[in-house]
Amino acid sequence: MTIGRIRFMDEQRVNLDGFAVPDVDLGLVAFASPHDPIPSLVISEGQVTELDSRPASEFDAIDSFIAAHGIDLDVAIEAMALDNLVAARMFIDPNVSRSEIVRLVAGMTPAKLAEIITLLRPAELVIAMTKMRARRTPSNQAHVTNRSDDPLLLSADAATAAAFGFREIETTVPVLGDAPSNAIAVSIGAAVGSAGVLVQCSVEEALELWMGLRGLVSYAETVSLYGTEQIFVDGDDSPWSKAFLTSAYASRGIKMRVTSGGGAEALMGGAEKRSMFYLEARCVSLARAIGAQGVQNGGIDSASVASSVPGGVRSLMAENLMVMARNLEACTGNDALMSESDVRRTSRTHPIFIAGSDYICSGFGSIQRYDNMFGPSQWNSEDIDDFLAMQRDWGVDGGLRSTDMNALESLRERAVSAVRDVYRYLGLGDFSDEWAAQAIDAAGSKDIPAADLMTPLNAARIVRDSGITMLDVVTALADCGYEVEAGRMLTMLQQRVHGDYLHTAAIFDEQWNVLSLVTDPNDYAGPGTGYVPTPARQAEIDGIRQERSVADLRAEQQQHSSHRLRSTGAATLSTDPRDVVIGVSPAVGREVWQTLSGLLVVDVLEELLAGLEEEGCIGRIVRVNDTIDLGRLGLTAAQLSGSGISIGLQAKGTALIHRRDLTPLANLELYSVAPTVTRELYRLLGTNAGRHAKGSTPEPARNPYSDEAIEARYHTKVISLVAIERSCSNVYVPETLELV
Ligand code: CA
Repeated sequence: MTIGRIRFMDEQRVNLDGFAVPDVDLGLVAFASPHDPIPSLVISEGQVTELDSRPASEFDAIDSFIAAHGIDLDVAIEAMALDNLVAARMFIDPNVSRSEIVRLVAGMTPAKLAEIITLLRPAELVIAMTKMRARRTPSNQAHVTNRSDDPLLLSADAATAAAFGFREIETTVPVLGDAPSNAIAVSIGAAVGSAGVLVQCSVEEALELWMGLRGLVSYAETVSLYGTEQIFVDGDDSPWSKAFLTSAYASRGIKMRVTSGGGAEALMGGAEKRSMFYLEARCVSLARAIGAQGVQNGGIDSASVASSVPGGVRSLMAENLMVMARNLEACTGNDALMSESDVRRTSRTHPIFIAGSDYICSGFGSIQRYDNMFGPSQWNSEDIDDFLAMQRDWGVDGGLRSTDMNALESLRERAVSAVRDVYRYLGLGDFSDEWAAQAIDAAGSKDIPAADLMTPLNAARIVRDSGITMLDVVTALADCGYEVEAGRMLTMLQQRVHGDYLHTAAIFDEQWNVLSLVTDPNDYAGPGTGYVPTPARQAEIDGIRQERSVADLRAEQQQHSSHRLRSTGAATLSTDPRDVVIGVSPAVGREVWQTLSGLLVVDVLEELLAGLEEEGCIGRIVRVNDTIDLGRLGLTAAQLSGSGISIGLQAKGTALIHRRDLTPLANLELYSVAPTVTRELYRLLGTNAGRHAKGSTPEPARNPYSDEAIEARYHTKVISLVAIERSCSNVYVPETLELV
């Protein structure tokens, strides 16, 4: 039997996570396996004849592809000769430009780049990422899915994601056949929410490409790369087939990135005793070699494998940096949930969040965890307010923004009605009023009992059978009166012909400007350089919906104002030994009516008076108008009191028992944590004050147990309440108040 302290620790959520003993044989090692090759590159007559200690005669498919297409031989000799430490320092030296590092890294082998980036400490990874990401303006990607493939909810949630600032939306299906319906519904919703949001539907490759060719999606990122040949073989794939798929997407104007991530090979039992980081270095080299414009990595589906070993979370961020150093767009993981612990998952994301990346998350679940058909994300709709608060805390741009809650409701209404009208127009399906109303309001698919699960399947079948394209959807939108959305979706199709958004790290802003490595290159070079949010963007980051001002608090208090408390003139001195004065603060009965616990001040007074009465005392309420200090307030009241005993009560609910002969800061009992004080405790305080008045020594009441962040919750309110108290504290004569 373990001791209570350990049993208690065992119950914490972090202990739901799996932690592995490092095991090189299984590939369960983050960096620097003893079996990782020593970097080397031999070039003979313009051909690579040795790559990372392996002669050409022993190349596997990955070596062959990288040797043929992945290394800039013009710079290779110079790059490979660089001392690793010298090269590592370049990443954080503001005097070495991003483009210079990109030039050199192009000539490096996978093992060389892996060794260099392994040398960077965590804080150095943050600086390096700040400098090396391709696009200057950070951004974020959302998952929008639901368990029932409900087109109305998909549309409403896509509009919601766009309103919160996501510039790419990825959907997928629990039921493969539903895919075309999902792609259309999410695209319509995204167009309702904002112009220029890219949409993908992540499914089996042939179907995904089919949808892409019909304009139903505008980007793809599901082509997976692996760091050992065995895994390619197991998947019936090769670097050449992946390169062909990549080209197929790009040739039709579909933005395309590949997916990889440390730990995948270990998870599939094919790590060949190499470290996760070295294998990922091969994947990133391969991504460059096959001509993809970007990589989604940082663990992804295997993030929890990487994070189960020492240094694993650090290696996930280092993977992203390799992508940036190879001058590719980085979609920096923070995708699959890697821990049950809020602390660990925040710790994993936070360095990337403050560094900024092309997409902080390669799949922020903008829907609820249970509706995320990729599995729960690292961040989900449960966390949107946290994420927005973190942006505000650090003043950084994580790609999201607060959104007006009334505007959001209108957007969801429009997104739902647009899908409803388009599906009816195209003969894809009908939706009841009840279903539509539930979808607008829903926080998730559980809130929509009216949904019919066959509707998306039928709709998707009709799309596939009839060959409907996105142009038909645009026509339907226009004919049904959704001209803005029709225009946005038509512009997206036009952009595929222009092709500018195939540039590395391209997103559209809301005016259809392409922001990319070409048009918005990252120019960070130390303090005072690089991306700074515009004043308008900073205002979005700073202005979260939970902000409150003193004026807001005044208005809130006014809703509780009551005529039960009124002044009956100047307070007098009493000689009655049963007299106990309850001294209240200047704002009581004027501007503050509710204490921090939520109890009304009049209810508190009622309890105090009742407690005194139980002890045969007579309570008298006096408003002390010249101080807001609780000790001073209590002492003033005690000096007016016939018994010499008083209760001091601030409007916010803090209370004490005082006695005439004590100094101001002394007291007999104190309720210092106002938000936790209950009616029963105020009653007890009244009783105890009565007992003091009678000369006995009651047992003092204790503050109740609490593990809440009392200060975080109430301090800003307290500052406002104190300001209001001060504004009321302007006369010197105490007044008697009557409670009716
Ligand atoms: Ca993704």
